[in-house]
Formats: sequence, C-alpha cells, structure tokens
Amino acid sequence: MRYDVIIIGAGAAGLFCAIEAGKRGRKVLVIEHNSQVGRKIIISGGGRCNFTNLEVNAENFISQNPHFCKSALARYTSEDFINLVRKHKIQFYEKKLGQLFCRERSHLMVKMLLSECEKANVQILTDCSATKVDNDNLFSIETNKGKFQSKNLVIATGGLSFPKIGATDFGYKIAKQFGLKMTKTRPSLVPLVFANGKNFKNLAGISIDSIAEFNKKSFRENILFTHRGLSGPAILQISNYWKKEKFIQIDLLPEFDALKLLEKDRSSKQKVSNFLSKHLPNRFAEEFTKLNFQNKPINQLSNREIQQISEKLNNWKVRFDDTEGWHKAEVTLGGIDTDEISSQTMESKRIKGLYFIGEVLDVTGWLGGYNFQWAWSSGYVAGNSV
Ligand SMILES: Cc1cc2nc3c(=O)[nH]c(=O)nc-3n(C[C@H](O)[C@H](O)[C@H](O)COP(=O)(O)OP(=O)(O)OC[C@H]3O[C@@H](n4cnc5c(N)ncnc54)[C@H](O)[C@@H]3O)c2cc1C
Repeated sequence: MRYDVIIIGAGAAGLFCAIEAGKRGRKVLVIEHNSQVGRKIIISGGGRCNFTNLEVNAENFISQNPHFCKSALARYTSEDFINLVRKHKIQFYEKKLGQLFCRERSHLMVKMLLSECEKANVQILTDCSATKVDNDNLFSIETNKGKFQSKNLVIATGGLSFPKIGATDFGYKIAKQFGLKMTKTRPSLVPLVFANGKNFKNLAGISIDSIAEFNKKSFRENILFTHRGLSGPAILQISNYWKKEKFIQIDLLPEFDALKLLEKDRSSKQKVSNFLSKHLPNRFAEEFTKLNFQNKPINQLSNREIQQISEKLNNWKVRFDDTEGWHKAEVTLGGIDTDEISSQTMESKRIKGLYFIGEVLDVTGWLGGYNFQWAWSSGYVAGNSV
C-alpha cells in the first residue's frame, strides 16, 4: 500500500497537515494508535479547546532558536484559522488575553478537521500503531495493521504529556534513528512542587492575582495553592522558563507597594494578619502570617520587620523542587532540535522526505492557544510541501 504522504499521529498538527496535502491532490494516509483522533483537542481548554489567540508572535514561544517558528506562523496565521472555524459555523469567544475558546464542546473542532479531511480525500487509520520506520528510497512504516509505504513521512506524534491519552516517544525515537539532534525534554505548562512543600498544605485551594517572575519574564494572572506547590495560569506560564536551581519571584500584591501601605498604617493597632486580610484572602492572610511573621500589632513592628513583610508581599522568593510531571503537564518543553529542520517546510535538512510538525519539535507555546496555533501553522507548511 503506497502513498504520497504518510502522517503518523492524528492530533492537531497531523490532521491539519493531512488536509493541506490532500487538498493538493496528494494521496495521504494518517496513522493513529488511539481509537479516536484528536484526543488532546477534545480534552483541551477544559473541554472547550482554546484553539488560538488573537495575538500570536514569536515571543509567545520558547525554543533554542527563537526565530524558527516565525515563517510558519506568518504563512498560516491565527486569523486564517479563525476564518476556517467561522466557515464551519463553530461559535467561539474571547475568554481573556486574546484567548479564543469554543462556546460549545471542543469535539466540534475535531468534527471540523475530520470533515475537511474527508473533503480532501484523506484516509485515516485508527487503532493503528506505528512501530518501526525504514527508509530505502521510500519510507516503510510497520504497524500492527501491516506495512505501508510512502514518498514522504510526516512525524506528528506530539510530546510526552498526558501519557494516559496516547502520548508516546515514538517521534523522538525516529529522530534518533535518523541521527537528528534533540534538545532536553521536560514537562511544562505544569504545576510546580515546593522545595519545602509540607509548610503550605493549609493554603491549598487559595487563588491570588499575582505576578510570577523568572529571569525577567513575568506573567500577571492567578496563582493557585495546591497540596504540594503552586499552580494557576501565572505559574503554568512561568513553568516554561523555570530552572530548578533558581527561585521564582511572586508579587502577591501587584496593585500595591506593600511598604507604602504598611507605612500608611504605621500607627495602627491592627495585627499583621488583619492588615493582610484587607488585601488578600482571609485564610491566606492568617496562614501566611503564621508561617512568616510574628502576628504583632503594626505599631509594634520594627522598621526591619516592616521591610521584611513588604518584601515578602511584593517579592516572595519561592523555590521549587520539581514539576508535577507528565500526567499534569499540558506540553513538552524541548524536543527535536530545530537546527535539523527547515523552518519553511518542516522537512529534515538531512533526510529528504522526512518531516516533523507540532509539539514533537523544540517549539513550546505559552498557555493561551499558542500550542494549537503552532500545530496548525507547522502542519500547514508541511502539508504544502510534501
Ligand atoms: C490537558 C491539556 C489541555 C491543553 N489545552 C490546550 C489549549 O486549550 N490550547 C492549546 O493551544 N494547547 C493546549 N494543550 C496543548 C495541545 O493539546 C498540544 O500542544 C497539541 O495537541 C499538540 O498537537 P500535536 O498534533 O503536535 O500532538 P498531539 O495532539 O499530542 O497528537 C499526537 C498524536 O500522535 C499519536 N501517536 C503517538 N505515537 C503514535 C504511534 N507510535 N503510532 C500512531 N499514533 C501515535 C497520539 O495518540 C496523538 O493522537 C493542552 C494539552 C493538554 C495535555
């Protein structure tokens, strides 16, 4: 069974590439080892798929080569994808910060991709696991459903996050087999685990509008205390940049200069925890005071204590030991080194006809629809080259 193009992985990138290649008259087969295509799309965005963002720039992505993503993102933009969504009459809305979500369930997005695949005569084989690839003039792909051959092979197997819904390291294995370099991978867009975790258990469930900062990158959104550490959008965003050896700085009162607030109340008899609860959730104010300060009336605090409290509020330095791992991570940071890949086509510079698209590459987006936009854009350029 011979094809012009075989795509391994029927996720966002693989399906989009298939549509574009099919539209150009290529004979396309997509191989998917799950029984259902696009499972990550279905669970994404809390079941409502944050499918793109109104503002997409290279700055929203992390990669060893920050310029790599530019060409694909310019050739297939978020506006292009929005037009496709509109064409299929899928209702959507901007939740915040340009993030576009489906109004109804995200399976509509999968339905849209499948209908475009059908129009483009794309063949999709589910429950079909690619196990081995050989390259001798043609690519030969061994699967549990037999052997398939093609002139072009597109690896769209995604990253390692959420193994329970089918993530595998097959794409990385193929890269290694063909001698392509990889950058180190780790879970990202992921909650972080405190270095001194036990202390903060009582804060679990509390959410605070904050600024999380690491290495001059900062995000203002909520942080959420978990039983073991911190989560919430600000922390997920900063997890893309976090390195274990260094602390993350958190401004718990982004609207205020805590020192000025305390100085204004300098003669007040209210205790520290009461002062804090004017600006922060009660339970947090009590517990955070217990853990960090003496709960004295403000008028009895020394200048040094005032300084320490304000520093903790505007510039809380937190160390984390680890991430919560692949089962809680939305994406994989790192992947196939983009030095190996043409940014115009996603084809390997060394192996003709071998393409890599989507999350398997060392391109990781921020939270907010950027990872799907990368899947659509990289799938589009590959689909127009195969
Ligand atoms: C819980 C969660 C929520 C998310 N929410 C969002 C969001 O709202 N917005 C956003 O932009 N991003 C979101 N993401 C990230 C986004 O889902 C991914 O970046 C995107 O799906 C990557 O697309 P992909 O096609 O590269 O990989 P995937 O979507 O992971 O697709 C890869 C496919 O390859 C298949 N496969 C793997 N190995 C084999 C093999 N050997 N043989 C056959 N098939 C194989 C897999 O089963 C899978 O279907 C979320 C991720 C998670 C985990």
